[in-house]
Amino acid sequence: MSTPHPNIVVMKFGGTSVEDATAIQRTLSIVKTRRDQGLQPVVVVSAMAKVTDTLLAAAAAASHNDSEKALSLSFDLRRRHLDAAEELVGRRAIGALAHELHQKFDALDDLLRGVSAVGELTPRTNDLVVSFGERLSSILVAHAFEHRGLSAAHVDARTCIVTDSHFGKAAPQEAIIEARLSEHVLPLVAAGAIPVLGGFIGANAEGITTTLGRGGSDYTAALVGGGLHAGAIEIWTDVNGIMTSDPRVVPEALRVRTISFEEAAELAYFGAKVLHPATILPAVQKNIPVWVLNSRNAANEGTRITAIAPHCKSPFKSIAAKKRLTIIDIVASRMLMSHGYLKSVFEIFDRYKCPIDMVSTSEVSISVTVDSNEQVPAICAELSKIADVKFEGRKALICLVGEDIRGQNGISGRVFSAVSHINVRMISQGASEINMSFMIEEDDVDEAIRSLHRAFFQSPDESVFDVAALAEVAH
Ligand code: ASP
Ligand code: MG
Repeated sequence: MSTPHPNIVVMKFGGTSVEDATAIQRTLSIVKTRRDQGLQPVVVVSAMAKVTDTLLAAAAAASHNDSEKALSLSFDLRRRHLDAAEELVGRRAIGALAHELHQKFDALDDLLRGVSAVGELTPRTNDLVVSFGERLSSILVAHAFEHRGLSAAHVDARTCIVTDSHFGKAAPQEAIIEARLSEHVLPLVAAGAIPVLGGFIGANAEGITTTLGRGGSDYTAALVGGGLHAGAIEIWTDVNGIMTSDPRVVPEALRVRTISFEEAAELAYFGAKVLHPATILPAVQKNIPVWVLNSRNAANEGTRITAIAPHCKSPFKSIAAKKRLTIIDIVASRMLMSHGYLKSVFEIFDRYKCPIDMVSTSEVSISVTVDSNEQVPAICAELSKIADVKFEGRKALICLVGEDIRGQNGISGRVFSAVSHINVRMISQGASEINMSFMIEEDDVDEAIRSLHRAFFQSPDESVFDVAALAEVAH
């Protein structure tokens, strides 16, 4: 194993943390704090908020030969980046930065004209178009740091993040990435500079631009942190971290100080959208702690995600809800559940590429939960050829997550007595053994979550939950 660098902290800033000059200033002071603490920051930035969506729209317009629309979207982006640049470094110092930004936008416009001329957009070209978001934001941020006396060094992420050629969702090649980081990033850190890289983008072995998939900047941060054997990775977003529940529903919801990777993964699946845990796997595997922090509230300690959860006196870490679900009841009226019957049922869902959330079966019936979507009636029409089918929308799944429920008897009893006044449809204790979920009416979600929160977070474990913050609010 190569040398660990416990002093390096990889700091990833999402789109809202670099959305305009004000946000970039905030980012800058956060990075400065870390440097002043004697740490060595390596910065990874997303594209400015909404830029990726706009670039995708421009590429799509160009593919329909609408060069006018594509170029006008690109022009809006050019204005936005130059406005932010001017606000950050001032009109007098903007020369070199403006030149660099204009060059990039000229190249983007040429590309969009090319796509419009042929009216064809390959995944490879789409990746090239969308890569401009992070290439531009990283240049802008590096210049802004430099201008404010933070010695920064822009690094084109494509020189380090080597991937396969699966355009749109390329797989990183970790061993090569580690070597590239040692070559291009470590010397900068050793010289006292702060490397600034765009997230999300990479290149294949031939140097052709690729991307890691939507939301891929977290992935870049984990790859950079893992490859450098950094001491910590910080994901700076616009929330205080992972909470025991949605604070809009439960005002007394608490910040979770530490959560395991597995718990965070379960929660993400059930709609807690802070980050997609699969993307931080390269860091977790190397035991590098990942923090989720709020760039609008930098004093807050955030949530620490670790490979192994510390012991917690409360059985659950968090309660989440997934709404807009439909439940489909399939009753095999004529044939009892014969061999191959389940297969033919699931094949229909498969044909519509409709993922299933939860399944429960009896001898003659199957109940299946899916995201409500316009395909449900068509799926049910097909199912009705082999069964009696009923479907009902406006359902929700409540999900309680916590490693400490493993092997604990009596937990489900406590859960269901907390919601005994609510009509519960389907119950499942996930195979992962760290989540319990059940289905209710969408209208009952808020009441169910509040009751469960009251039942399970009455006397929270102070080593795991931020109880002090709540006491402050109460004063
Ligand atoms: N800019 C990319 C996206 O919006 C990657 C990221 O922000 O993580 O998906
Ligand atoms: Mg993101």
